[in-house]
Amino acid sequence: MEQIHHLIDGQTCPSSSGRKSPVFDPATGQQTAELGLGSVAEVESAIASSKAAFEEWKTVSIAKRTKLMFRFRELVDANTDEIAKRLTAEHGKVLDDARGEVARGLENIEYACGLAELLKGSHSGNASTGVDVYSIRQPLGVVAGITPFNFPAMVPLWMLPNAVATGNTFILKPSERDPSAPMFLAELFHEAGFPPGVLNVVHGDKTAVDCLLQHRDVKAISFVGSTPIARYVYETGAAAGKRVQALAGAKNHMLVLPDADVGLAADSAVSAAYGSAGERCMAVSVVVAVGDVADPLVEAIASRTAELTIGPGTQADSEMGPLITAEQRDRVNGYVQAGADAGATVVVDGRDMVFEGDGFFTGVSLLDNVTTDMSVYTDEIFGPVLCVVRVDTYQQGVDLITNNPWGNGAAIFTRDGGAARRFQEEADAGMIGINVPIPVPVGYHSFGGWKESLFGDTHMYGPEGVHFFTKGKAITSRWPDPAHSAVDLGFPRNS
Ligand code: NAD
Repeated sequence: MEQIHHLIDGQTCPSSSGRKSPVFDPATGQQTAELGLGSVAEVESAIASSKAAFEEWKTVSIAKRTKLMFRFRELVDANTDEIAKRLTAEHGKVLDDARGEVARGLENIEYACGLAELLKGSHSGNASTGVDVYSIRQPLGVVAGITPFNFPAMVPLWMLPNAVATGNTFILKPSERDPSAPMFLAELFHEAGFPPGVLNVVHGDKTAVDCLLQHRDVKAISFVGSTPIARYVYETGAAAGKRVQALAGAKNHMLVLPDADVGLAADSAVSAAYGSAGERCMAVSVVVAVGDVADPLVEAIASRTAELTIGPGTQADSEMGPLITAEQRDRVNGYVQAGADAGATVVVDGRDMVFEGDGFFTGVSLLDNVTTDMSVYTDEIFGPVLCVVRVDTYQQGVDLITNNPWGNGAAIFTRDGGAARRFQEEADAGMIGINVPIPVPVGYHSFGGWKESLFGDTHMYGPEGVHFFTKGKAITSRWPDPAHSAVDLGFPRNS
Protein backbone atom coordinates (compact mmCIF):
# COMPACT_ATOMS: atom_id res chain seq x y z
CA MET A 1 0.00 0.00 0.00
CA GLU A 2 1.44 3.39 -1.00
CA GLN A 3 2.25 5.59 1.99
CA ILE A 4 1.86 9.37 1.69
CA HIS A 5 4.04 11.53 3.91
CA HIS A 6 4.53 15.17 4.87
CA LEU A 7 6.99 17.33 2.98
CA ILE A 8 8.93 19.45 5.46
CA ASP A 9 12.01 21.51 4.65
CA GLY A 10 12.26 19.86 1.25
CA GLN A 11 12.36 16.38 2.78
CA THR A 12 9.80 13.59 2.83
CA CYS A 13 8.81 13.16 6.43
CA PRO A 14 6.76 10.14 7.54
CA SER A 15 4.22 10.77 10.26
CA SER A 16 4.96 9.10 13.58
CA SER A 17 1.56 9.83 15.11
CA GLY A 18 0.35 6.30 14.39
CA ARG A 19 -2.89 7.78 13.04
CA LYS A 20 -3.65 7.08 9.38
CA SER A 21 -6.34 7.92 6.89
CA PRO A 22 -7.24 5.75 3.87
CA VAL A 23 -7.20 7.15 0.33
CA PHE A 24 -9.57 5.51 -2.16
CA ASP A 25 -10.02 5.31 -5.89
CA PRO A 26 -13.70 6.29 -5.90
CA ALA A 27 -14.23 4.62 -9.29
CA THR A 28 -13.33 1.18 -7.92
CA GLY A 29 -14.01 1.66 -4.23
CA GLN A 30 -10.54 0.24 -3.52
CA GLN A 31 -8.12 1.77 -1.07
CA THR A 32 -5.01 2.87 -2.97
CA ALA A 33 -2.92 4.66 -0.37
CA GLU A 34 -2.56 5.45 3.29
CA LEU A 35 -1.96 8.94 4.58
CA GLY A 36 -0.09 9.60 7.82
CA LEU A 37 -1.98 12.21 9.87
CA GLY A 38 0.23 14.82 11.46
CA SER A 39 0.89 15.16 15.18
CA VAL A 40 1.25 18.51 16.91
CA ALA A 41 5.05 18.02 16.98
CA GLU A 42 5.14 17.42 13.22
CA VAL A 43 3.07 20.51 12.46
CA GLU A 44 5.29 22.51 14.81
CA SER A 45 8.37 21.31 12.98
CA ALA A 46 6.81 22.47 9.67
CA ILE A 47 6.08 25.87 11.24
CA ALA A 48 9.67 26.12 12.52
CA SER A 49 10.99 25.30 9.04
CA SER A 50 8.71 27.90 7.45
CA LYS A 51 9.72 30.50 10.00
CA ALA A 52 13.43 29.94 9.37
CA ALA A 53 12.92 29.98 5.58
CA PHE A 54 10.99 33.26 5.81
CA GLU A 55 14.03 35.15 7.13
CA GLU A 56 15.87 34.42 3.88
CA TRP A 57 12.92 34.33 1.47
CA LYS A 58 11.64 37.79 2.35
CA THR A 59 14.96 39.24 1.20
CA VAL A 60 15.03 37.46 -2.19
CA SER A 61 14.72 39.97 -4.99
CA ILE A 62 11.59 40.47 -7.04
CA ALA A 63 13.58 39.48 -10.13
CA LYS A 64 14.58 36.11 -8.62
CA ARG A 65 11.11 35.39 -7.24
CA THR A 66 9.58 36.19 -10.63
CA LYS A 67 11.95 33.81 -12.40
CA LEU A 68 11.08 30.99 -10.02
CA MET A 69 7.37 31.63 -10.43
CA PHE A 70 7.66 31.48 -14.22
CA ARG A 71 9.55 28.18 -13.95
CA PHE A 72 6.85 26.77 -11.68
CA ARG A 73 4.23 27.90 -14.21
CA GLU A 74 6.05 26.07 -17.00
CA LEU A 75 6.40 22.88 -14.97
CA VAL A 76 2.73 22.81 -13.96
CA ASP A 77 1.67 23.46 -17.53
CA ALA A 78 3.96 20.73 -18.89
CA ASN A 79 2.70 18.25 -16.29
CA THR A 80 -1.01 18.96 -16.71
CA ASP A 81 -1.80 15.40 -17.75
CA GLU A 82 0.07 13.87 -14.84
CA ILE A 83 -1.64 16.16 -12.32
CA ALA A 84 -5.00 15.41 -13.95
CA LYS A 85 -4.35 11.67 -13.70
CA ARG A 86 -3.78 11.99 -9.97
CA LEU A 87 -6.90 14.10 -9.55
CA THR A 88 -9.04 11.54 -11.33
CA ALA A 89 -7.49 8.65 -9.42
CA GLU A 90 -8.37 10.02 -5.97
CA HIS A 91 -11.22 12.49 -6.54
CA GLY A 92 -12.97 10.61 -9.34
CA LYS A 93 -13.70 13.57 -11.64
CA VAL A 94 -13.41 12.88 -15.37
CA LEU A 95 -10.06 13.65 -16.98
CA ASP A 96 -11.42 16.64 -18.93
CA ASP A 97 -12.65 18.23 -15.69
CA ALA A 98 -9.32 17.43 -14.08
CA ARG A 99 -7.41 19.17 -16.89
CA GLY A 100 -9.79 22.12 -16.56
CA GLU A 101 -8.99 22.26 -12.85
CA VAL A 102 -5.26 22.49 -13.61
CA ALA A 103 -5.91 25.23 -16.20
CA ARG A 104 -7.87 27.28 -13.66
CA GLY A 105 -5.09 26.79 -11.11
CA LEU A 106 -2.47 27.92 -13.65
CA GLU A 107 -4.28 31.26 -13.98
CA ASN A 108 -3.29 32.01 -10.41
CA ILE A 109 0.37 31.18 -10.99
CA GLU A 110 0.29 33.42 -14.05
CA TYR A 111 -1.19 36.23 -11.99
CA ALA A 112 1.54 35.84 -9.39
CA CYS A 113 4.20 35.98 -12.15
CA GLY A 114 3.27 39.68 -12.32
CA LEU A 115 4.49 40.26 -8.77
CA ALA A 116 6.76 43.11 -9.87
CA GLU A 117 3.67 45.06 -10.87
CA LEU A 118 1.59 43.82 -7.91
CA LEU A 119 4.09 44.95 -5.29
CA LYS A 120 4.86 48.39 -6.67
CA GLY A 121 3.18 50.37 -3.92
CA SER A 122 2.32 54.03 -4.37
CA HIS A 123 4.08 57.33 -3.91
CA SER A 124 3.01 60.93 -3.35
CA GLY A 125 5.90 63.32 -3.90
CA ASN A 126 5.99 66.68 -2.05
CA ALA A 127 2.82 65.97 -0.04
CA SER A 128 4.04 68.90 2.03
CA THR A 129 7.16 70.98 1.40
CA GLY A 130 10.06 68.54 1.44
CA VAL A 131 7.76 65.71 2.50
CA ASP A 132 7.08 62.56 0.48
CA VAL A 133 4.54 59.92 1.49
CA TYR A 134 4.64 56.40 0.13
CA SER A 135 2.95 53.10 0.81
CA ILE A 136 4.51 49.67 0.51
CA ARG A 137 3.20 46.20 1.24
CA GLN A 138 5.24 43.67 3.16
CA PRO A 139 4.81 39.92 3.70
CA LEU A 140 3.17 38.62 6.88
CA GLY A 141 5.57 35.74 7.61
CA VAL A 142 4.39 32.14 7.87
CA VAL A 143 0.93 31.69 6.38
CA ALA A 144 -1.13 28.50 6.04
CA GLY A 145 -3.71 27.13 3.63
CA ILE A 146 -6.27 24.47 4.56
CA THR A 147 -8.05 23.05 1.53
CA PRO A 148 -11.07 20.87 0.64
CA PHE A 149 -11.28 17.62 -1.30
CA ASN A 150 -13.19 18.88 -4.31
CA PHE A 151 -10.40 20.87 -6.02
CA PRO A 152 -7.22 19.36 -4.58
CA ALA A 153 -4.95 21.12 -7.10
CA MET A 154 -6.80 24.33 -7.95
CA VAL A 155 -7.66 25.52 -4.45
CA PRO A 156 -4.06 25.24 -3.15
CA LEU A 157 -3.11 27.24 -6.26
CA TRP A 158 -5.66 29.90 -5.27
CA MET A 159 -3.35 30.54 -2.29
CA LEU A 160 0.23 29.37 -2.75
CA PRO A 161 1.41 31.52 -5.71
CA ASN A 162 0.24 34.85 -4.29
CA ALA A 163 1.42 33.94 -0.78
CA VAL A 164 4.99 33.12 -1.80
CA ALA A 165 5.26 35.73 -4.57
CA THR A 166 4.59 38.40 -1.96
CA GLY A 167 7.41 37.04 0.23
CA ASN A 168 5.64 34.76 2.71
CA THR A 169 6.39 31.13 3.39
CA PHE A 170 3.42 28.83 3.04
CA ILE A 171 2.23 25.68 4.83
CA LEU A 172 -0.36 23.62 2.99
CA LYS A 173 -2.70 21.26 4.85
CA PRO A 174 -4.52 19.52 1.98
CA SER A 175 -7.66 17.43 2.26
CA GLU A 176 -6.91 13.95 3.57
CA ARG A 177 -9.17 12.44 0.89
CA ASP A 178 -7.07 13.19 -2.22
CA PRO A 179 -3.54 14.30 -1.27
CA SER A 180 -1.52 13.03 -4.27
CA ALA A 181 -2.13 15.93 -6.66
CA PRO A 182 -1.08 18.60 -4.12
CA MET A 183 1.98 16.50 -3.23
CA PHE A 184 2.94 16.42 -6.89
CA LEU A 185 2.47 20.20 -7.13
CA ALA A 186 4.83 20.54 -4.17
CA GLU A 187 7.42 18.41 -6.00
CA LEU A 188 7.13 20.65 -9.06
CA PHE A 189 7.45 23.72 -6.85
CA HIS A 190 10.77 22.45 -5.52
CA GLU A 191 11.90 21.37 -8.98
CA ALA A 192 11.33 24.97 -10.08
CA GLY A 193 14.04 25.96 -7.60
CA PHE A 194 12.15 27.44 -4.66
CA PRO A 195 14.26 26.99 -1.52
CA PRO A 196 13.28 24.34 1.06
CA GLY A 197 10.80 25.61 3.66
CA VAL A 198 9.16 28.19 1.39
CA LEU A 199 6.45 25.55 0.95
CA ASN A 200 5.84 22.83 3.52
CA VAL A 201 3.02 20.29 3.27
CA VAL A 202 1.57 18.68 6.38
CA HIS A 203 -1.26 16.18 6.33
CA GLY A 204 -3.81 15.82 9.01
CA ASP A 205 -7.19 16.37 10.54
CA LYS A 206 -8.47 18.58 13.35
CA THR A 207 -5.25 18.07 15.34
CA ALA A 208 -3.12 19.58 12.56
CA VAL A 209 -5.62 22.34 11.80
CA ASP A 210 -5.93 23.33 15.47
CA CYS A 211 -2.16 23.56 15.78
CA LEU A 212 -2.00 25.91 12.76
CA LEU A 213 -4.89 27.97 14.16
CA GLN A 214 -3.33 28.38 17.59
CA HIS A 215 0.37 28.72 16.83
CA ARG A 216 1.71 32.24 17.34
CA ASP A 217 4.15 31.96 14.44
CA VAL A 218 1.37 31.41 11.88
CA LYS A 219 0.20 34.86 10.87
CA ALA A 220 -2.65 34.11 8.48
CA ILE A 221 -5.01 31.28 7.58
CA SER A 222 -6.57 30.81 4.18
CA PHE A 223 -9.33 28.21 4.38
CA VAL A 224 -11.75 26.66 1.90
CA GLY A 225 -14.28 24.02 2.97
CA SER A 226 -17.71 23.44 4.46
CA THR A 227 -19.60 26.14 6.35
CA PRO A 228 -19.41 24.67 9.90
CA ILE A 229 -15.64 24.14 9.66
CA ALA A 230 -15.12 27.53 7.97
CA ARG A 231 -16.96 29.23 10.83
CA TYR A 232 -14.86 27.33 13.37
CA VAL A 233 -11.61 28.15 11.56
CA TYR A 234 -12.54 31.82 11.28
CA GLU A 235 -13.56 32.19 14.92
CA THR A 236 -10.63 30.21 16.31
CA GLY A 237 -8.01 31.81 14.08
CA ALA A 238 -9.32 35.34 14.65
CA ALA A 239 -9.44 34.76 18.43
CA ALA A 240 -5.77 33.77 18.23
CA GLY A 241 -5.01 37.11 16.55
CA LYS A 242 -4.62 35.90 12.98
CA ARG A 243 -5.83 37.22 9.69
CA VAL A 244 -8.36 34.66 8.39
CA GLN A 245 -10.27 34.23 5.16
CA ALA A 246 -12.58 31.20 5.30
CA LEU A 247 -14.53 30.34 2.19
CA ALA A 248 -17.45 28.05 2.85
CA GLY A 249 -20.43 26.13 1.47
CA ALA A 250 -23.04 27.15 -1.03
CA LYS A 251 -26.47 26.64 -2.54
CA ASN A 252 -26.31 28.40 -5.87
CA HIS A 253 -29.48 29.48 -7.67
CA MET A 254 -29.96 29.87 -11.41
CA LEU A 255 -32.89 32.10 -12.27
CA VAL A 256 -34.45 31.37 -15.66
CA LEU A 257 -36.80 34.05 -17.00
CA PRO A 258 -39.61 33.20 -19.44
CA ASP A 259 -37.73 34.85 -22.33
CA ALA A 260 -34.57 32.76 -21.87
CA ASP A 261 -33.14 30.50 -24.55
CA VAL A 262 -34.44 27.22 -23.07
CA GLY A 263 -31.87 25.07 -24.87
CA LEU A 264 -28.97 27.17 -23.57
CA ALA A 265 -30.43 27.26 -20.06
CA ALA A 266 -30.95 23.48 -20.01
CA ASP A 267 -27.43 22.76 -21.32
CA SER A 268 -26.01 25.12 -18.71
CA ALA A 269 -28.07 23.65 -15.87
CA VAL A 270 -26.99 20.11 -16.75
CA SER A 271 -23.28 20.90 -16.93
CA ALA A 272 -23.36 23.15 -13.85
CA ALA A 273 -25.44 20.82 -11.68
CA TYR A 274 -23.96 17.45 -12.61
CA GLY A 275 -20.41 18.29 -13.75
CA SER A 276 -17.84 16.90 -11.33
CA ALA A 277 -20.79 14.98 -9.78
CA GLY A 278 -22.11 18.22 -8.30
CA GLU A 279 -19.10 18.42 -5.98
CA ARG A 280 -18.35 22.05 -6.80
CA CYS A 281 -18.97 25.01 -4.53
CA MET A 282 -20.15 26.90 -7.61
CA ALA A 283 -22.43 24.07 -8.83
CA VAL A 284 -25.98 25.09 -9.63
CA SER A 285 -28.18 23.38 -7.02
CA VAL A 286 -31.46 25.20 -7.59
CA VAL A 287 -33.07 26.22 -10.86
CA VAL A 288 -35.65 28.92 -10.22
CA ALA A 289 -38.08 28.71 -13.11
CA VAL A 290 -40.12 31.87 -13.60
CA GLY A 291 -43.63 31.53 -15.04
CA ASP A 292 -44.30 29.37 -18.05
CA VAL A 293 -40.65 28.54 -18.75
CA ALA A 294 -40.90 25.82 -16.08
CA ASP A 295 -42.49 22.98 -18.10
CA PRO A 296 -40.32 23.21 -21.22
CA LEU A 297 -37.21 23.78 -19.08
CA VAL A 298 -37.78 20.74 -16.84
CA GLU A 299 -38.47 18.63 -19.91
CA ALA A 300 -35.30 19.89 -21.65
CA ILE A 301 -33.15 19.19 -18.59
CA ALA A 302 -34.67 15.74 -18.09
CA SER A 303 -34.12 14.74 -21.72
CA ARG A 304 -30.48 15.81 -21.52
CA THR A 305 -29.85 13.79 -18.35
CA ALA A 306 -30.79 10.64 -20.26
CA GLU A 307 -27.82 11.24 -22.57
CA LEU A 308 -25.21 11.67 -19.85
CA THR A 309 -22.52 9.01 -19.67
CA ILE A 310 -21.57 8.19 -16.10
CA GLY A 311 -18.50 6.07 -15.52
CA PRO A 312 -14.89 6.04 -14.34
CA GLY A 313 -13.16 9.36 -14.90
CA THR A 314 -10.45 7.61 -16.89
CA GLN A 315 -12.96 6.34 -19.46
CA ALA A 316 -12.85 8.56 -22.56
CA ASP A 317 -16.62 9.02 -22.94
CA SER A 318 -17.44 9.56 -19.24
CA GLU A 319 -19.04 12.91 -18.50
CA MET A 320 -19.52 12.33 -14.78
CA GLY A 321 -17.56 10.19 -12.36
CA PRO A 322 -18.27 8.77 -8.91
CA LEU A 323 -18.72 10.63 -5.62
CA ILE A 324 -15.81 11.02 -3.25
CA THR A 325 -16.85 8.35 -0.70
CA ALA A 326 -19.47 5.64 -0.23
CA GLU A 327 -20.89 7.67 2.69
CA GLN A 328 -21.32 10.72 0.47
CA ARG A 329 -23.08 8.61 -2.19
CA ASP A 330 -25.47 7.24 0.45
CA ARG A 331 -26.04 10.73 1.84
CA VAL A 332 -26.90 12.07 -1.61
CA ASN A 333 -29.31 9.20 -2.25
CA GLY A 334 -30.88 9.87 1.15
CA TYR A 335 -31.64 13.44 0.10
CA VAL A 336 -33.43 12.24 -3.03
CA GLN A 337 -35.62 10.03 -0.83
CA ALA A 338 -36.20 12.91 1.61
CA GLY A 339 -37.28 15.14 -1.29
CA ALA A 340 -39.71 12.51 -2.53
CA ASP A 341 -41.09 11.98 0.99
CA ALA A 342 -41.58 15.74 1.39
CA GLY A 343 -43.65 15.94 -1.80
CA ALA A 344 -41.16 16.96 -4.50
CA THR A 345 -41.70 15.42 -7.94
CA VAL A 346 -38.77 13.12 -8.71
CA VAL A 347 -38.47 13.63 -12.47
CA VAL A 348 -35.15 11.79 -12.74
CA ASP A 349 -34.08 9.43 -9.95
CA GLY A 350 -30.33 8.80 -9.86
CA ARG A 351 -30.84 5.82 -7.61
CA ASP A 352 -32.39 3.93 -10.52
CA MET A 353 -29.06 3.63 -12.29
CA VAL A 354 -27.22 0.39 -11.78
CA PHE A 355 -23.43 0.36 -11.71
CA GLU A 356 -21.13 -2.63 -11.76
CA GLY A 357 -18.38 -2.96 -9.17
CA ASP A 358 -17.81 -1.22 -5.86
CA GLY A 359 -17.21 2.35 -7.08
CA PHE A 360 -19.01 5.21 -5.31
CA PHE A 361 -21.35 5.94 -8.22
CA THR A 362 -24.87 7.24 -8.28
CA GLY A 363 -26.92 8.65 -11.15
CA VAL A 364 -28.11 12.23 -11.54
CA SER A 365 -31.40 13.35 -9.99
CA LEU A 366 -33.84 16.08 -10.96
CA LEU A 367 -36.49 17.15 -8.45
CA ASP A 368 -39.32 19.46 -9.51
CA ASN A 369 -41.85 21.40 -7.40
CA VAL A 370 -39.33 21.75 -4.60
CA THR A 371 -40.32 24.15 -1.80
CA THR A 372 -38.08 26.09 0.51
CA ASP A 373 -38.91 24.04 3.61
CA MET A 374 -37.60 20.76 2.12
CA SER A 375 -34.15 19.50 3.17
CA VAL A 376 -33.16 19.18 -0.51
CA TYR A 377 -33.53 22.97 -0.62
CA THR A 378 -32.25 23.96 2.83
CA ASP A 379 -29.09 21.80 2.90
CA GLU A 380 -25.95 21.77 0.80
CA ILE A 381 -26.11 18.29 -0.77
CA PHE A 382 -22.82 18.49 -2.69
CA GLY A 383 -23.88 15.82 -5.18
CA PRO A 384 -25.63 15.44 -8.55
CA VAL A 385 -29.08 16.56 -7.41
CA LEU A 386 -30.79 19.51 -9.09
CA CYS A 387 -33.89 21.08 -7.53
CA VAL A 388 -36.42 23.12 -9.47
CA VAL A 389 -38.40 25.76 -7.58
CA ARG A 390 -41.26 27.32 -9.54
CA VAL A 391 -42.10 31.00 -9.01
CA ASP A 392 -44.40 33.46 -10.76
CA THR A 393 -42.17 36.52 -11.00
CA TYR A 394 -38.57 37.71 -11.29
CA GLN A 395 -38.96 39.40 -7.90
CA GLN A 396 -39.96 36.15 -6.18
CA GLY A 397 -36.82 34.55 -7.64
CA VAL A 398 -34.58 37.33 -6.40
CA ASP A 399 -36.22 37.09 -2.96
CA LEU A 400 -35.35 33.39 -2.80
CA ILE A 401 -31.68 34.25 -3.37
CA THR A 402 -31.83 37.05 -0.79
CA ASN A 403 -33.42 34.80 1.83
CA ASN A 404 -31.01 31.93 1.31
CA PRO A 405 -28.34 31.84 4.01
CA TRP A 406 -25.59 31.17 1.45
CA GLY A 407 -24.42 33.64 -1.17
CA ASN A 408 -21.60 32.17 -3.21
CA GLY A 409 -22.85 32.45 -6.81
CA ALA A 410 -26.11 33.23 -8.60
CA ALA A 411 -26.95 33.21 -12.29
CA ILE A 412 -29.66 34.61 -14.52
CA PHE A 413 -30.69 33.34 -17.94
CA THR A 414 -32.60 35.87 -20.02
CA ARG A 415 -32.53 37.75 -23.32
CA ASP A 416 -33.48 40.96 -21.51
CA GLY A 417 -30.45 43.17 -20.82
CA GLY A 418 -32.44 45.38 -18.46
CA ALA A 419 -33.48 42.40 -16.31
CA ALA A 420 -29.90 41.12 -16.27
CA ARG A 421 -28.66 44.53 -15.25
CA ARG A 422 -31.13 44.67 -12.36
CA PHE A 423 -30.15 41.17 -11.32
CA GLN A 424 -26.45 41.98 -11.08
CA GLU A 425 -27.38 44.80 -8.70
CA GLU A 426 -29.99 42.95 -6.67
CA ALA A 427 -28.77 39.36 -6.37
CA ASP A 428 -27.43 38.80 -2.86
CA ALA A 429 -24.33 36.79 -3.78
CA GLY A 430 -20.64 37.44 -4.35
CA MET A 431 -20.35 36.12 -7.91
CA ILE A 432 -22.96 36.64 -10.61
CA GLY A 433 -23.40 34.90 -13.96
CA ILE A 434 -25.37 36.41 -16.82
CA ASN A 435 -26.17 33.55 -19.19
CA VAL A 436 -23.17 31.88 -17.51
CA PRO A 437 -24.02 29.19 -14.94
CA ILE A 438 -20.71 28.91 -13.03
CA PRO A 439 -19.29 32.41 -12.78
CA VAL A 440 -15.87 31.57 -11.30
CA PRO A 441 -13.88 34.77 -11.88
CA VAL A 442 -10.59 34.62 -13.81
CA GLY A 443 -7.36 34.74 -11.81
CA TYR A 444 -7.07 38.54 -12.01
CA HIS A 445 -10.46 39.11 -10.36
CA SER A 446 -10.98 37.75 -6.88
CA PHE A 447 -13.21 34.83 -5.86
CA GLY A 448 -15.55 34.95 -2.90
CA GLY A 449 -19.11 34.60 -1.78
CA TRP A 450 -21.24 36.48 0.69
CA LYS A 451 -23.20 35.55 3.80
CA GLU A 452 -22.49 31.99 5.04
CA SER A 453 -20.27 31.33 2.02
CA LEU A 454 -17.43 33.47 3.37
CA PHE A 455 -16.20 34.27 6.86
CA GLY A 456 -13.90 37.28 6.86
CA ASP A 457 -13.99 40.12 4.39
CA THR A 458 -11.25 39.27 1.92
CA HIS A 459 -11.93 37.22 -1.16
CA MET A 460 -9.48 34.64 -2.47
CA TYR A 461 -6.77 35.17 -5.14
CA GLY A 462 -6.37 38.09 -7.57
CA PRO A 463 -5.94 41.57 -6.08
CA GLU A 464 -7.66 40.61 -2.81
CA GLY A 465 -5.36 37.60 -2.47
CA VAL A 466 -2.31 39.84 -2.72
CA HIS A 467 -3.88 42.18 -0.19
CA PHE A 468 -4.62 39.30 2.20
CA PHE A 469 -1.04 38.04 2.19
CA THR A 470 0.57 41.45 2.73
CA LYS A 471 0.40 44.21 5.29
CA GLY A 472 0.50 47.84 4.35
CA LYS A 473 3.08 50.30 5.57
CA ALA A 474 2.88 54.06 4.90
CA ILE A 475 6.10 56.03 5.12
CA THR A 476 6.23 59.80 5.56
CA SER A 477 9.66 61.19 4.89
CA ARG A 478 11.01 64.72 5.17
CA TRP A 479 14.35 65.82 3.81
CA PRO A 480 15.45 69.41 4.37
CA ASP A 481 16.11 71.40 1.22
CA PRO A 482 19.68 70.62 0.10
CA ALA A 483 20.31 74.36 0.19
CA HIS A 484 20.71 73.79 3.93
CA SER A 485 22.95 70.77 3.47
CA ALA A 486 26.23 70.63 5.31
CA VAL A 487 27.73 69.13 2.15
CA ASP A 488 28.72 71.51 -0.64
CA LEU A 489 26.50 70.33 -3.53
CA GLY A 490 27.89 72.91 -5.91
CA PHE A 491 24.91 75.21 -6.32
CA PRO A 492 24.29 78.57 -4.72
CA ARG A 493 22.99 78.39 -1.17
CA ASN A 494 20.04 80.41 -0.04
CA SER A 495 21.15 82.91 2.50
P1 NAD B 1 -14.45 20.12 4.93
O1 NAD B 1 -14.91 21.33 5.62
O2 NAD B 1 -14.87 18.79 5.46
O3 NAD B 1 -12.84 20.07 4.91
C1 NAD B 1 -12.06 21.18 4.52
C2 NAD B 1 -10.74 21.13 5.26
O4 NAD B 1 -10.99 21.24 6.66
C3 NAD B 1 -9.96 19.83 5.05
O5 NAD B 1 -8.60 20.13 4.88
C4 NAD B 1 -10.21 19.06 6.34
O6 NAD B 1 -9.15 18.22 6.68
C5 NAD B 1 -10.39 20.16 7.37
N1 NAD B 1 -11.29 19.76 8.46
C6 NAD B 1 -12.33 18.89 8.38
N2 NAD B 1 -12.93 18.77 9.57
C7 NAD B 1 -12.26 19.57 10.42
C8 NAD B 1 -12.42 19.88 11.82
N3 NAD B 1 -13.38 19.34 12.55
N4 NAD B 1 -11.57 20.77 12.36
C9 NAD B 1 -10.59 21.32 11.63
N5 NAD B 1 -10.40 21.06 10.31
C10 NAD B 1 -11.22 20.20 9.72
O7 NAD B 1 -14.84 20.29 3.39
P2 NAD B 1 -14.74 19.21 2.23
O8 NAD B 1 -15.79 18.16 2.42
O9 NAD B 1 -13.34 18.78 2.04
O10 NAD B 1 -15.13 20.13 0.96
C11 NAD B 1 -16.44 20.36 0.54
C12 NAD B 1 -16.97 21.67 1.11
O11 NAD B 1 -16.11 22.74 0.72
C13 NAD B 1 -18.34 22.03 0.55
O12 NAD B 1 -19.11 22.56 1.60
C14 NAD B 1 -18.04 23.10 -0.49
O13 NAD B 1 -19.10 23.99 -0.75
C15 NAD B 1 -16.89 23.80 0.15
N6 NAD B 1 -16.11 24.52 -0.84
C16 NAD B 1 -16.23 25.88 -0.86
C17 NAD B 1 -15.53 26.62 -1.80
C18 NAD B 1 -15.64 28.11 -1.84
O14 NAD B 1 -14.85 28.71 -2.52
N7 NAD B 1 -16.59 28.72 -1.16
C19 NAD B 1 -14.69 25.96 -2.73
C20 NAD B 1 -14.58 24.57 -2.66
C21 NAD B 1 -15.30 23.86 -1.70
